Amino acid sequence: MKVSEIGEFNLIDRIKSMIGRHGDDVRIGIGDDAALVSFDGSEVLLTTDVLVENVHFTNEIPPHSIGYKSIAVNISDIAAMGGKPKHILVSLSLPENTEIDFVDEMYKGMIDCAKKYNAGIVGGNMSRSSEIVINVTVTGTVEPENLRKRSTASVGDSILVTGSLGGSAAGLLAIEKGIVDQGGYHNNDLIKKHLYPKARIEESRFLAKLGSRAVEDISDSLFLDLSNICLASNVGAVIDVSKIPVALEAKEIKKAIDCNPLNLALSGGEDYELLLTASKEQAKNMIESLMIETGTELSEIGEIVEGSGVRLIDPDGEEFDYEKSGFDHFKGAK
Ligand SMILES: [Mg+2]
Repeated sequence: MKVSEIGEFNLIDRIKSMIGRHGDDVRIGIGDDAALVSFDGSEVLLTTDVLVENVHFTNEIPPHSIGYKSIAVNISDIAAMGGKPKHILVSLSLPENTEIDFVDEMYKGMIDCAKKYNAGIVGGNMSRSSEIVINVTVTGTVEPENLRKRSTASVGDSILVTGSLGGSAAGLLAIEKGIVDQGGYHNNDLIKKHLYPKARIEESRFLAKLGSRAVEDISDSLFLDLSNICLASNVGAVIDVSKIPVALEAKEIKKAIDCNPLNLALSGGEDYELLLTASKEQAKNMIESLMIETGTELSEIGEIVEGSGVRLIDPDGEEFDYEKSGFDHFKGAK
């Protein structure tokens, strides 16, 4: 059997059952945004991500942003746990003919991102390969009161999301369809969210203090990542699609390319916004307070219900007609 036949999520489940039970020093193992392990009393978050040329990026993407994003996506997983990043390891596989300038620029991006979030690159490894592969591992710390998991959503909770969704997918479309200037990448707002995602460290830690329950970052898509929270928490979710904060970029790209901005927001992925649940009473306060504290928008988009899976409804409460199409790394069309 080939990996494409079972898909990414089934493959992870298969590996998880092979690994089996962990020792007591593993507080959180496979299945959340990061692992939490304990070393002689202190607890450490561990997360890793791989970026592969022609899967996650192409040679049209500026190396500075490839480097920046490779670190930011890992720090976003630390944010989803309520933590702060500390140390970073970078392993690189490069074709022999890679330009030194490419490596320099990529590392400048990595260093810029690490500095922004007060983390430091402390080591790594290098190998030869046919395509560029960047593997980043980030460690972090989290106080027990700030630690957040996917498995703690409760029936009746509001579902909230930071920022807006679909901006990254819109940027990717713009690049793929060649509607941005080659030289203008850094100044082009349309593709900025795709190239330079924000990790919501400050927001997550602030929301933890205000009583967030289950938290995850949106990497695959709103639909798939909310499905993860539902599975882990043994609950269902109902989303009112009219409340989803669709990114300006997603509305903007529609002028140039025939696409549905709402679908980009629901299934585009790579927005790295926080998806969280909180009691209805807390939700109102969170929306106001987060804006005052960080300037980041927080939107209430639905409710956690009994049952399983994610249901989409329109403002009248009718079933919303939408075909699930989140990006699966092995089964996906890309
Ligand atoms: Mg994640």
